[in-house]
Parts: sequence; structure tokens; C-alpha cells
Amino acid sequence: MTINVILLGPPGAGKGTQAKTLAERTGLTHVASGDLFRAALREGTELGMLAKSYMDRGELVPDEVVIRMILERVAQPDCAAGVIFDGFPRTQEQAVALQESLAEHNGKIDAVLYLHVPNEVLLRRIAGRQTCKVCGATYNIYYFPSHRPGICDACGGKLYQRSDDSLETAQHRLDVYFTQTRPLIEHYQRQGLLHEIDGQQDIAWVTDAMLKALGRFLEPSAQPKE
Ligand code: ADP
Ligand code: ADP
Ligand code: ZN
Repeated sequence: MTINVILLGPPGAGKGTQAKTLAERTGLTHVASGDLFRAALREGTELGMLAKSYMDRGELVPDEVVIRMILERVAQPDCAAGVIFDGFPRTQEQAVALQESLAEHNGKIDAVLYLHVPNEVLLRRIAGRQTCKVCGATYNIYYFPSHRPGICDACGGKLYQRSDDSLETAQHRLDVYFTQTRPLIEHYQRQGLLHEIDGQQDIAWVTDAMLKALGRFLEPSAQPKE
């Protein structure tokens, strides 16, 4: 069965961390708008350069650019079995564009998992975030350090700090989230799709809560263990 899930929540809420595990457990494909922009930048494409000018300031990349990129990604064969959206949609306009595009292929959003985390925790999580250059795994110097400092546990790759994870830019990204993205909570609540999850709990607890919320959509092998 095809299902599409959105992970909604502020920067630092744990969307990327959870999406990677959920993708492994459910077989759905993880699509992260921020990762796509960072990959485009590494490849030196025009899209990457354009996105960087917004990301560096902690602003949102314009809707039409993000929407085009995501709809192209979702049209790839590996997305046919269902997608976990991470970091998209972030505006009302993006949400509507996604819904319309899915509907054209008889698809829909089946669940929106909203990770709630208080602001002061978010700032610490963002400032402490380290990301693997090679495999994209995420660590945190305060909450979830790698075993060897600066080295990825999973692949031995080098860890780096994202340039937009400085305290100043992070604060601005949180402001942008509150004005532009937070209204989507109500948007999806009205549609009866929203599941609120306590994102302050530890990583494994959150994964389990998400799998429980998705329970009725999942194959028995992906169900959370009691
Ligand atoms: P997002 O994709 O929502 O911006 P990430 O998944 O990158 O968030 O997580 C932000 C930071 O917080 C990372 O450094 C990550 O290791 C850490 N983190 C994620 N989930 C938790 C958690 N439940 N408890 C403590 N730290 C967490
Ligand atoms: P985080 O989860 O920590 O906020 P992301 O990797 O999702 O980080 O996003 C990093 C940056 O990429 C954002 O601050 C924004 O500039 C850009 N971006 C990512 N997704 C979107 C989107 N859906 N709409 C507009 N800009 C986006
Ligand atoms: Zn790695």
C-alpha cells in the first residue's frame, strides 16, 4: 500500500534523525528538501547557488523553486511506494501544491507527524548538531555525540557543522518557522491528519511513537515492538 507521510516541526525538532530510521523500518523513501539543496550546492548547480543565498540568511527559498524541485523528486520511481517528507511543505502554498500534485496521481497525504519541542531546547540542538559529510548521519555534541569526536560512527566520514547552524541564523530560522510554517499545524489538524508527538523524549522513544501513529498503515514487520 502506498502511503505518504509528512514530518512537521521546527528546525532541530529531530525530523531528519527520525526520517532516516522510519525509512529503514517502513521501506518508504526519505525526501528532505534541505538535503536536496545541500546536494545541489555540492554539485555546483544553479539551483544550489540560488538556494545557498537564502539558506545562509536563514530565509526560506522561494515557493516556486522548492515546489518544482520536490515535485521532480517525487516523480522518480523510488518514490512510487510512498514518501516521508522532511522539511517540506513549509508554507501554505507548498502544502497546497503538494496536495494537488499527489491528487493528480490518485495519491494523498495519509499522516502528518508533528514533533513538538520547546524553543530553548531547539537552539541547543541546532547549535550542537554535527552532520556526516559522507552519509548524512546526524550527531549532537550535547545530546548524542559520536564515539570518536568529529568522526561518523556509521561510516567513518568527517563530521561538520552546517554554516546555517550558528546561533544567530538558528534564531532567525526559528522566527521564520513560527510565522510561515507553524500555521500548517492547524491546516493539517482541520484535515484530521495531525498526530502530535513529544519530540523532547529520547530518539528511540520518538521513533516508537511515530511507528504507533502510523500503525494501521504499516506492514506487521514494521510495527513497533511492545
Ligand atoms: P531537524 O531535521 O528537525 O532539523 P535533526 O534530526 O537534524 O532535526 O536533529 C537536530 C539535532 O538534535 C541533531 O544534532 C540531532 O542529533 C539531535 N536530536 C534529534 N533528536 C533528538 C532527541 N530526541 N533528543 C536529543 N537530541 C536529538
Ligand atoms: P532544518 O530542519 O534544521 O530547518 P533544513 O535542512 O530542513 O533544516 O533546511 C535548511 C534550509 O533550507 C532552510 O533554512 C531554508 O533556507 C531551506 N529550505 C529547506 N526546505 C525548504 C522549504 N520547504 N521551503 C523553503 N526553504 C527551504
Ligand atoms: Zn557517516
